[in-house]
Amino acid sequence: MRRTHTCGELNSKSINKNVVLQGWVAKVRKMGGMNFVDLRDQYGITQLIIKDSVEIKNEYVIEVEGKVIKRKSINEKISTGEIEIEVTKLTVINKSLLTPFEIKDDVQTSDDTRMKYRYLDIRRPIIAKNLIARSKMNNVIRNYFTKNNFIEIETPIFGKSTPEGARDFLVPSRINKHHFYALPQSPQLYKQLFMVGGIDRYFQIAKCFRDEDLRIDRQPEFTQLDMEMAFAKKEDVMAIIESLMVEILKEIKDVSITKPFKQITWDEAIDKYGIDKPDLRFGLEIKTLNKIFSETEIPLFTNLDKKSIRAICVEKLIGKKELERLSETSKQNGINILGFAKFESNNWSGSIGGKLSNQEKLSLINEFNIKKPSTLLFVVDEYYKASKVMGALRNEAARIYELADSNKFELLWVIDFPLYEFSEEENRFVAAHHPFTMPQEEFLDSFDSDMLNAKAAAYDIVMNGFEIGGGSQRITDNQLQARMFKSVGLTDLQVQNNFGWFVNAYNYGAPYHAGLALGLDRIIMILTGAENIRDVIAFPKNSSGIDMMNDAPSKVDEKQLLELQIKLK
Ligand code: ASP
Repeated sequence: MRRTHTCGELNSKSINKNVVLQGWVAKVRKMGGMNFVDLRDQYGITQLIIKDSVEIKNEYVIEVEGKVIKRKSINEKISTGEIEIEVTKLTVINKSLLTPFEIKDDVQTSDDTRMKYRYLDIRRPIIAKNLIARSKMNNVIRNYFTKNNFIEIETPIFGKSTPEGARDFLVPSRINKHHFYALPQSPQLYKQLFMVGGIDRYFQIAKCFRDEDLRIDRQPEFTQLDMEMAFAKKEDVMAIIESLMVEILKEIKDVSITKPFKQITWDEAIDKYGIDKPDLRFGLEIKTLNKIFSETEIPLFTNLDKKSIRAICVEKLIGKKELERLSETSKQNGINILGFAKFESNNWSGSIGGKLSNQEKLSLINEFNIKKPSTLLFVVDEYYKASKVMGALRNEAARIYELADSNKFELLWVIDFPLYEFSEEENRFVAAHHPFTMPQEEFLDSFDSDMLNAKAAAYDIVMNGFEIGGGSQRITDNQLQARMFKSVGLTDLQVQNNFGWFVNAYNYGAPYHAGLALGLDRIIMILTGAENIRDVIAFPKNSSGIDMMNDAPSKVDEKQLLELQIKLK
């Protein structure tokens, strides 16, 4: 290579060296007949001094030769801030048009424009930094699993469409008319077959595809770290993943976290935090207050009829604007009345605060251990609905008052999940995780007759309020698997047509096995502090599933459709 150094490499130790640098012009400033140029590449920025007049503009690609000299005004913000290059020769390698937005971290342009010119967006150090962190994480993962005797095996992208789970993306087969492949929602079935195939420890950094509505932390294609272990139970999987997360946090953030991670049951998560992915960087535990208000005269808390009074205590005097924001959160989650009580130097006020009896005041102070000026928020509804709303309020209050420290990483396991959840849309029970998840031992007899209460041998890993992964012990007994399928409403014929190829494998000797998948996009989004999952994906789709750069998905040639025998009308 012609360049002797990168733009992030030179410092005071390099003074007097003759160097060749190549990169993009980030900024040109003329001062007293001299040109000060910031030269940028992936590694950093180096200041150049050019004495002659130059014909260069932002984003031109140039090469300079020159001498490293000490800088008069030191810039402590960048690693090359002590030096600059006295340029003796400048060559323009390539010119640039005026870019549609300035290449800098706090760019002011729409997301769609950034995505349309994503290659320019990637030039911005903040985005490049995310992609570099991602590469580093993949590297940690590969090294970690390899040293723990896992082998990386690729599984097909063209697979079979199966019911259950999210909607599939389909790919028509030209040589098998009217037949479709499905893109994998995850390598789940293949990895289970590896276990039947005698592979002891499998992992893969796998692309997965789900045709779901998009959210800030969701894209139609995403990447999982997928793994499975033979002759393993939940504890074995958890131990392997905990050590991996310790290494990832150390490498990417230089943060040491301690093992073992906290484990809480799904019931406890809902009870204390109103959500199955609690952010434990702040407290704000939810309490049930039916006992305290058993003899109350406050209208909101009377005639409860099995409803729960659930509340949190925020150690702030919540202002009018913030209360409105919280009320909105409550409404969006289906509860219209948000009660509140403010406490300050032994005075109570607010819609509930103004009506409390002396005994109720004392009990609340005790229950929440109130020592500072605080505001209590109350909702009343059926237990799960009230919990869900409280969970959303808890998170919103933390956002308003910035209670979650962005330098802290709180990891935990949520265990003992329900085996099923009720789908209102389909009016039936569906598998909460997936239908290959083993019921917990004590529910082996009853799981399909008492579906509401059955618990799964499943576990989720949660970081800072995001579910970053999940897995389970798998069903390896075909009779059990048949009961499971039947319980979610699949007929024998449907099972045979969709899963026969898979289920049959378990007739030929399978070890017990367990595994898990981690959502790598989400993890790196949290670790880099990116606000949106798109900022950690090289070429993402927008919220309508469109790649703004190349307009995919697009219409295709009619000839191509004819070959596939797909009719437009
Ligand atoms: N395949 C599952 C998922 O994508 C993870 C697992 O059970 O291993 O959620």
